[in-house]
Amino acid sequence: MSYIRYKNKNLFVEGVSVKSLTSKLSTPFYLYSKSNIAENYKSFFNNFKKSNPLICFSVKANSNIQILKVLKKMGSGADVVSGGELLKAIKSGIKPNKIVFSGVGKSEDEIKLAIRKKILLINVESENEAILINKIAGGLKKKIAIGIRLNPDINAPTHKKISTGKAEDKFGLSKTNLISFCLNIKKLKNLKLNAISVHIGSQILSENPFKKTLKVLEEIIEKTKIYFKFVDLGGGFGITYKKNDKKINLKSYSNLVDKFKKKYDCNIIFEPGRAILGNTAILVTKVQYLKKGSNKTFAILNAGMNDFMRTALYDAVHNIIPVVKNNKKNKGPLEFVGPICETTCKFVKYNKYQKLNQSDYVAISDVGAYGASLSSNYNTKPLIAEIIINKSKARIIRKKQDIKSLLKQ
Ligand SMILES: *Cc1c(COP(=O)(O)O)cnc(C)c1O
Repeated sequence: MSYIRYKNKNLFVEGVSVKSLTSKLSTPFYLYSKSNIAENYKSFFNNFKKSNPLICFSVKANSNIQILKVLKKMGSGADVVSGGELLKAIKSGIKPNKIVFSGVGKSEDEIKLAIRKKILLINVESENEAILINKIAGGLKKKIAIGIRLNPDINAPTHKKISTGKAEDKFGLSKTNLISFCLNIKKLKNLKLNAISVHIGSQILSENPFKKTLKVLEEIIEKTKIYFKFVDLGGGFGITYKKNDKKINLKSYSNLVDKFKKKYDCNIIFEPGRAILGNTAILVTKVQYLKKGSNKTFAILNAGMNDFMRTALYDAVHNIIPVVKNNKKNKGPLEFVGPICETTCKFVKYNKYQKLNQSDYVAISDVGAYGASLSSNYNTKPLIAEIIINKSKARIIRKKQDIKSLLKQ
């Protein structure tokens, strides 16, 4: 079921018309559907139901505490990549024994915080990180549970800036290094090697790279004879941003995961971000100006790359849809751009679009993941509001940032 859809030419999120919100609130703002988030979580879990996984939502995809609370209520844990995300996850009510901590560059303070909070796993990404954790743990007279992250050297077809599982990428340990790490783990007396983890990249729309990764994991378990308590299979499941994107089918992968779990008697963890949040939000923005270019019209929006960076950063394509549909045609091609003083502050170009007027409202689609969490104050612009819809109720979950807070330095 789609919670973001048109009723009589008017865009609705659940029971609320977007147009009615634009008359009450200043644009731009993020607008989420709570039911959509809950449904995505359930459907992801149900895909892998047989292996009863622990789902650790990837907080970097969306770190709003109210959204984390929604997921916490569904049973989610958290995958965090900084001390700040760890504190947010705990503040949202997620129990530390459902939190895993990934990232190649954890600082000493972040490691100490993770130890103090007694989280489930610190997913280690290098030998030297393990040595540091062992030393800190020794000082505290504690034995700390870690996972070790594998870089399986698998080329998952995705944008080069979001690939993480190839040998040339900075993440994890190569198979050879990981095996020798496992065989020497006894030297690090204050560590318990409880898990092996992988995360091969993001926005992956084929099952094959995930299946190949599972094979590499099997090979490692067979070689080392270490039967990990947890096998953390990461995130990376893609969503359909473009019309021609084919939905990923996780059936046969899910069966393989189930077999794997039974064979090695381990607990499965997943770390989805985009698959849970991606399609649950729109960014509502106003056409500030229309401007004639030499062979197209620019629709200059009041939202820019500071509010939503994916297009500038990853060449991502996000459809922009009208808040109110009409039956008229726009003359010639139309390009949606933002106000920031950078050439890459542009969104999408259409050869055909409906008739657009200055001050019309439009919505950038599928911005729930890596949207608000990636936004910035570039060009000294305040962070915009975030609003969540639950049936016919709208609730502000982040107020538009006060410009005064930007004037202190
Ligand atoms: C970013 C990240 C994820 C989530 O990736 P998605 O593509 O949003 O599912 C999971 N695990 C780790 C370690 C990550 O860095």
